[in-house]
Amino acid sequence: MAESGTSLRDKIIEALEYTNNPNVHIRDLDALEKKISILKSSPNLSEDLLVISDFDYTLSKYFLPSGERSPTAYRILLGSKLLSEEVNKRDEELSNHYYPLELSSSINEEEKHKVCSEWWSQGNQLIISTKVNRDLIAKIVETSGLTLREGIGELMHIINSCNVSCLVFSAGLDYIIKVALKENKLLTPNVKVISNEMVWDDEGTISQMQGPVLTSYNKNYNILSNYPDVAKEFDPKKFVILLGDSPGDSNMANGMPNLQETLRIGFLNIKVEEKLENFKTLFDIVFTNDMPLLLFIKLLKLILSS
Ligand SMILES: [Mg+2]
Repeated sequence: MAESGTSLRDKIIEALEYTNNPNVHIRDLDALEKKISILKSSPNLSEDLLVISDFDYTLSKYFLPSGERSPTAYRILLGSKLLSEEVNKRDEELSNHYYPLELSSSINEEEKHKVCSEWWSQGNQLIISTKVNRDLIAKIVETSGLTLREGIGELMHIINSCNVSCLVFSAGLDYIIKVALKENKLLTPNVKVISNEMVWDDEGTISQMQGPVLTSYNKNYNILSNYPDVAKEFDPKKFVILLGDSPGDSNMANGMPNLQETLRIGFLNIKVEEKLENFKTLFDIVFTNDMPLLLFIKLLKLILSS
């Protein structure tokens, strides 16, 4: 149906600069239009909607202005020069051993989950061994070079001011992510962070890592059974807009009990030629080459506008 003289499809195309932006990819424009139309026709969208976003390389940028890769939440901590050289060295050893296995095309998803669980478990042991104090984390994040994706401030402001709930769902480290969001004034009450959980003793020293080891291969809604308070709040949600940069992120809403529709937004930052076709089957819209959030923000405004 035409809205103010312009069809919904035209508005989607305009918001996404679909016809003239080489970094915007859509597998099926009809299917996308249908999903957006379903979301827009919900009478209580802000109440029924949950935005689920990955953190590393989705809310953060992939590339630093220098051209180097931005640090992940784990790397922010374990690669920090504010910890001992031995910790940095052990972290590098783990990465050199496990990262090629994670990237390998000769092992399947299940084996990759095993590889990553092993890697993360050893990383978690290393974190506990650092006896890092919570007070030091702010400094560690501040000096890490972490760069958030352009537009994140506006995005989180829109989500908050429209009373939409947001789950930052990450295979990284919860406290690092919370500090990074807080330092940028983005940790508003509508935002919950679920990630590998760092537990602190009375002196504020890391004492253990709690909960299931979360990797990109088991990061789906079923994990929320370990977080009953968050699950209670999000279980009734009917619609999800999901943002992620790895294939596994497309499953983040899987297992939500009342889910009716999921709009999936993918960020394909590297190896575009090799991975684009697969990403287009997993995500409704794919933004390539470390794109800012601005076009997604335009689409979100269109979805949330009456
Ligand atoms: Mg990621």
